[in-house]
Amino acid sequence: LPGAPPEMLIPGGAVFTAEGKNELDAAIMDGKTQKAGAVAGVTRTKNPILLARKVMEDSPHVMLTGAGADRFSVERGLEQVDPSYFYTEERWQGLQKWKERQQTASANDPVDPTHLFGTVGAVAIDSEGNMAAATSTGGMTGKRWNRVGDSPIIGAGTYAKNGQCAVSATGSGEYFIRESAARQICDRVAWKGESLFDAAWATIMSVGAIGGDGGLIAMGPDGRPVFAINDLGMY
Ligand code: ASP
Repeated sequence: LPGAPPEMLIPGGAVFTAEGKNELDAAIMDGKTQKAGAVAGVTRTKNPILLARKVMEDSPHVMLTGAGADRFSVERGLEQVDPSYFYTEERWQGLQKWKERQQTASANDPVDPTHLFGTVGAVAIDSEGNMAAATSTGGMTGKRWNRVGDSPIIGAGTYAKNGQCAVSATGSGEYFIRESAARQICDRVAWKGESLFDAAWATIMSVGAIGGDGGLIAMGPDGRPVFAINDLGMY
């Protein structure tokens, strides 16, 4: 982005946990079959979204976490990397700044207010009207205790259903989980007859009303993308 301010340049890599590690979450959903696959807290899979897809297509489960998910990844032959692959200096510095801010932050505040969301999301439709959504993230800087965000939770950060909508969200995941944000948009369209645009904004506002920040992309059966955000931090 020529001329973009430095904080808007995509830093790559993945954010760090409080212990200085990278734990990656991803999910994918097929709106035609309503099959879904998700992984949380994986550490060695080069492309966690491919692992989520493997869970969807090649396991009886929807969500795998931690060491088991890492093991499944090896068993299915996905490309493995040393965890240092996800290191970038910017993200490491982000953790150091987060540590400084902890001196004054409230212990129960899950959200880093200066967080710029770096999650990658996609929504899509094919020529037969089949919809899909996918989300991949490192989560939130300073996360602890094997925290899992909204991205791999079907209906919170990721959701797709043919004839309704496909959604991928980014933001302070705790609040997107509490509002069932991605599913909420589709339900607003299907049950309340709201336009996708209104449903996306109403949902972001409901996330905001309980203290959450972030944004989302959504797509309806007409293939038009919609974008809603209540803060500055979406790349
Ligand atoms: N939603 C992600 C999470 O809470 C973070 C992000 O989108 O940046 O894990």
